[in-house]
Amino acid sequence: MAFDIDMIKKVYSEVAERVDAAREITGKPLTLAEKILYSHLWDGKAEKAFTRGKDYVDFAPDRVACQDATAQMALLQFMHAGKPKVAVPTTVHCDHLIQAKVGAEADLKRANENSNEVFDFLESVSNKYGIGFWKPGAGIIHQVVLENYAFPGGMMIGTDSHTVNAGGLGMVAIGVGGADAVDVMAGMPWELKFPKLIGVKLTGKLSGWTAPKDVILKVADILTVKGGTGAIIEYFGEGATSMSCTGKGTICNMGAEVGATTSTFGYDESMDRYLRATDRADVADAANKVKEYLTADPEVYANPEQYFDQVIEINLSELEPHLNGPFTPDLATPISKMSEVAKENDWPLNVEVGLIGSCTNSSYEDISRAASLAQQVSDKKLKTKSKFTITPGSEQVRYTIERDGYIDTFDKIGATVFANACGPCIGMWDRYGDNAADGPRNTIVHSFNRNFAKRADGNPNTLAFVGSPELVTAIAISGRLDFNPLTDTLINEEGEEVRLDEPRGYELPPEGFAVEDAGYIAPLEDGTGVEIKVSSDSERLQLLEPFDPWDGKNITGAKLLLKAYGKCTTDHISMAGPWLRFRGHLDNISNNCFIGAVNAFNKQTNFVKNQLNGEYGGVPDVQRVYKAEGIPTVVVGDHNYGEGSSREHAAMEPRHLGVRAVIVKSFARIHETNLKKQGMLGLTFDNENDYDLIQEDDTFNFIDLNEFAPDKPLHIEVVHADGSKDTIKVNHTYNAQQIEWFKAGSALNLIKRQNA
Ligand code: SF4
Repeated sequence: MAFDIDMIKKVYSEVAERVDAAREITGKPLTLAEKILYSHLWDGKAEKAFTRGKDYVDFAPDRVACQDATAQMALLQFMHAGKPKVAVPTTVHCDHLIQAKVGAEADLKRANENSNEVFDFLESVSNKYGIGFWKPGAGIIHQVVLENYAFPGGMMIGTDSHTVNAGGLGMVAIGVGGADAVDVMAGMPWELKFPKLIGVKLTGKLSGWTAPKDVILKVADILTVKGGTGAIIEYFGEGATSMSCTGKGTICNMGAEVGATTSTFGYDESMDRYLRATDRADVADAANKVKEYLTADPEVYANPEQYFDQVIEINLSELEPHLNGPFTPDLATPISKMSEVAKENDWPLNVEVGLIGSCTNSSYEDISRAASLAQQVSDKKLKTKSKFTITPGSEQVRYTIERDGYIDTFDKIGATVFANACGPCIGMWDRYGDNAADGPRNTIVHSFNRNFAKRADGNPNTLAFVGSPELVTAIAISGRLDFNPLTDTLINEEGEEVRLDEPRGYELPPEGFAVEDAGYIAPLEDGTGVEIKVSSDSERLQLLEPFDPWDGKNITGAKLLLKAYGKCTTDHISMAGPWLRFRGHLDNISNNCFIGAVNAFNKQTNFVKNQLNGEYGGVPDVQRVYKAEGIPTVVVGDHNYGEGSSREHAAMEPRHLGVRAVIVKSFARIHETNLKKQGMLGLTFDNENDYDLIQEDDTFNFIDLNEFAPDKPLHIEVVHADGSKDTIKVNHTYNAQQIEWFKAGSALNLIKRQNA
């Protein structure tokens, strides 16, 4: 589907020279992750060895992928870059905005009616700027990327945290915010802290009821939801090579659940087979010519403790099927212990719904193995006790499993097939109508990746457990959370005791993949004539206005808008949930600006003083008054301000509403960069205790902003209500280029100027 073989061949033509240079400069054998990182340096060949977990490095990713919810703001920004086309191959995938309710056909029709404006916008921007467009129903971003674009040894970024799925095909694939994607699409470098490396050695071999999913459920048990933070997880060993490529994808996908930057596997025959089955024999041929560069040096896997920061070993021959949950993906229970653990915790044993599929687990292998269990329902005269749903990851998978009779098999157990989209995996599952918030306490099992409260159906009382598609299917047939298919029997309709046979399936379709309309729309060769239409009265989309450049003067008379107390994450700054629908409309989504942050003066949220009239109001309302009066404002915060997601809305909204500076004890790095990109001042107190000096009625006068320079602190006069004054020193991390962003009003303004 228009994958770029020339780009891939170029990467492979350079890989030997770059990896050899990196090996020489680091003076040691290299892991796969290091090979990929060092062969994607923005400056070409490595000239120094980077320190893991410390050095920030500029990279040149090969691809970008965006999903529909995040693509809106990314593309709105890209339209300002002044580029006729994207600089690297890019795709947009319509998958998040499709709600699951009745079944694929009706749900897709409804989504096309409700969100047609957004889909049309994404399609026309894609067409204009040379971006491949996957229409609603084509599939879920990560499955489509694995089937069409991922390639061993490549590096990609995507505006979705499960972009990491492409590690199954030997990539370094990383989830980012829209602003980062825009940089790469506009031909700029992408910065990342050189990650630490965790090695996972897989010995033995999967068999019987155990699936690749159980490997990552076990890893989550060991590492917990934070254990992979700042690290790339690299899997190796006989257990890795004996596993299917799509199974590897499942494992990498859920690396996001342990906080890993990404996960990857070395190139092997399973990847060769998958590339050929998905019509990419030329990629496999090209990869085979450089295969020693697409996996770690042999010394690394022979002595992993020497080369990784942490090593974990899992024996697949002894690994049991697991169910992880509820409410967190790292609470792992082996199925043999579930009966006991569920009783201890009073988890409802009756399973209401089993859901398989999603980007995590809808390969042909997954579906065929699950179908082998569904088939046993009629063969053994059983009756399925729970409701059952399937969310295929792509139209190619859906079409192929229908052709091969599996949809029919699932139909016979009363299954509902949802659209090839995210649906119940992201709360887009209309299970309770408007009553989700008060839904009953109940248990579901699914093969997705996340199981936080409300994630699937909006009901905080739903206990969701994550398992392999095979285990989910067996549990749905039995209707019980504590059913262990390895040891337990079921009573069939004739009163006989029967046992489910082990699941069986095919790694790849014996007849090959097939599809009639994959749902891909190629962009025009020359899109200059394409007009982007956004209605001026749209509530969901709004064309961006460039932010004003700095006037070169010190900011004076700035009022304190908010002194945030305690944690102020990107969720506090720009809430998600119902606000998701405004992700493409900066002014409308700005009505959630800081509404979750706690005001240090009254410990309330969304209740701050308007210094002009002394009255209290919501943060966006008060800020809009200052904006209307042309009065700049300042926000003050505590440590790790802006932690959480990389969404650029958390920087764009304050900027749009007229906040000029954010002064905090410390920043979460990605948010700090986002502030810089949007032309804001992100500053830190030189003396942390100065946070305590800031009063509710303070006014801020910058003293030396007109001398803004790298490594030079700034000074601000803080005028209190009683007329007394304090002068505080603030630090910053702006380099010369970033100061140019500030002067231009935003990084995009600067890019545009440079392209003019
Ligand atoms: Fe994200 Fe779930 Fe969609 Fe995958 S299926 S992209 S995890 S929402």
